[in-house]
Formats: sequence, structure tokens, C-alpha cells
Amino acid sequence: SSQLMQGKRGLIMGLANDKSIAWGIAKALADAGAELAFSYQGEALLKRVGPLAAQLGSDTVLPCDVSDMDSVDALFGELEAKWGKLDFIVHAIGFSDKNELRGRYVDTTRQNFLTTMDISVYSFTAVTQRAAKMMTEGGSCLTLTYYGAERVMPHYNVMGVAKAALEASVRYLAEDLGKDGIRVNAISAGPIKTLAASGIGDFRYILKWNEYNSPLRKNVSIDEVGGSALYLLSDLSTGVTGETHHVDAGYHVVGMKAVDAPDM
Ligand code: NAD
Repeated sequence: SSQLMQGKRGLIMGLANDKSIAWGIAKALADAGAELAFSYQGEALLKRVGPLAAQLGSDTVLPCDVSDMDSVDALFGELEAKWGKLDFIVHAIGFSDKNELRGRYVDTTRQNFLTTMDISVYSFTAVTQRAAKMMTEGGSCLTLTYYGAERVMPHYNVMGVAKAALEASVRYLAEDLGKDGIRVNAISAGPIKTLAASGIGDFRYILKWNEYNSPLRKNVSIDEVGGSALYLLSDLSTGVTGETHHVDAGYHVVGMKAVDAPDM
């Protein structure tokens, strides 16, 4: 493979297992020569994340719960001590109470609204703020979003509202950090069967719907997201910032399918 990322160091946040979008991205980056560090949430995940990191030649595996700013500070303190400089970060983290990823948005509780916004939106700003201080030669920050930010999707509810705020924060961060040569972008991934997605009501139906109705008539893989992430994190995309790039088999451009679409 190419050595696009040779000499670049970056942090991957949000790896849970080998189905995670973060895993597809990490593989593409390691393949292109990047040196990776990983953060994981909670001791239980260490036994999964440790071996996956080792598979990609990384022994930098650090705990971080993004709902706790002391934990975020500790993570960046360790990275600073180990590497000094950072070239990129991948934020593949989201959370909402499962009970509110079904039923109606109108029933959202204040507590889960705040928790969802904190973990799924503010955390990207919090980590970008700290990472930027280490990106002394410029850098690239990437987060993951979903079409439910732009249009109403079944059961996505408060997560859709959070993703809309996340996409807006990508634009504000891009403007703030652009003068330092730091780029900030999002990938809007099509539905993929991961641990987080399994919490969403009728997820199998959503997968089928996207497969039948997207121009490419398929669902995307974590490796396809990885390929686009490699572009956004490498010097191939030095002219791109503030962008939400769709990796969704084209689903977002379709208004209505022609009559030759297969039956549901
Ligand atoms: P996943 O379950 O593999 O990853 C979610 C990660 O978030 C986990 O590693 C989990 O540990 C982490 N996380 C949750 N709360 C945290 C906290 N307080 N501190 C630190 N980490 C925390 O699922 P995924 O689908 O790979 O999700 C990655 C990102 O992709 C999420 O932002 C998700 O919304 C987004 N996304 C997913 C899909 C999809 O269909 N799977 C589509 C578009 C966007």
C-alpha cells in the first residue's frame, strides 16, 4: 500500500471491537504508515482494544471517558509526554440512552438530552481543543456523523439533534483552527451494524432501506469509511476543511427512487 501517512502520529478514540468504524479507519491509517495511539472507555474494553492495537503495531492504549474532563486531560497529558507533537485525531464516539432511540423525539428527557449532547457533541470540541495545542505543524481532526442530522430518520431522535450540533461545531472549529493549518471535518457514514447501532430501534430495516434506495444499492463497510478517512486525514485533502463528507453509497442525494427499484 501507499505510505501516505509515513511519519504521522495520531489518536484513535472510539474503538470498541472489530466492528467499530474506528477499526476500519485505524486499519487504513496503519496500512498507509501512520503511528497510532488508542483510547478506550472503561476497563472492560481494554481486553478488546489492547489486542486490536497490537495487531496494528501500537502499544499506546490509554483510558479516556469523555464525560470526565480530568480523564480527557490525563489522556492528552500522556500523549504530550510520549509524542510531544500530534498530526491527527479520530473521534468516533457517540452515546444516548437506548430507551430514547425508539419511539418519539418529542418524549426526550432533559437528562438524556444533556448526556447525549455532552458525550456526542461537546467531547469533540474538548478533544480538538487539547489536540490542537499539540498540532504544532498543522493537523487534521475527524469526527463521525449521520444523515439523521439533516433529515428525520426513524428512531434517531435526540441523536439526530446532537449530530446536527456536531456538524455545526465542525464548521466553527474549522474556522477557529484554520489559521494554524489545522483542518476539521466529519464523515457522514451510512448505517453500519456496530455495537452503538444495535441500540437503535428497527436498525435492520434501516439497513435494508438504505441498501435498496442508495444509488450504489448497497450498504457501506467500515473499510470504505476508512478509505475516505485516510483521504481527510492525509495531505491529499489539504484544501478541505469544515466539510461533512458523505460515505453512504450516495443515499443522501436521492429524493425518490425510480419505479425499477426493487420491492422492499
Ligand atoms: P461503536 O459502538 O463501535 O463505537 C462507539 C464508541 O463510543 C465505543 O467505542 C464507545 O466506547 C465510545 N464511547 C461511548 N461513550 C463514551 C465515553 N463517555 N467516553 C469515551 N468513549 C465513549 O459504534 P460505531 O458505530 O463505530 O460508532 C462510532 C461513531 O460513528 C459514533 O459517533 C456513531 O454515532 C457514528 N456513526 C455510526 C453509524 C452506524 O451506522 N454505525 C453511522 C454514522 C455515524
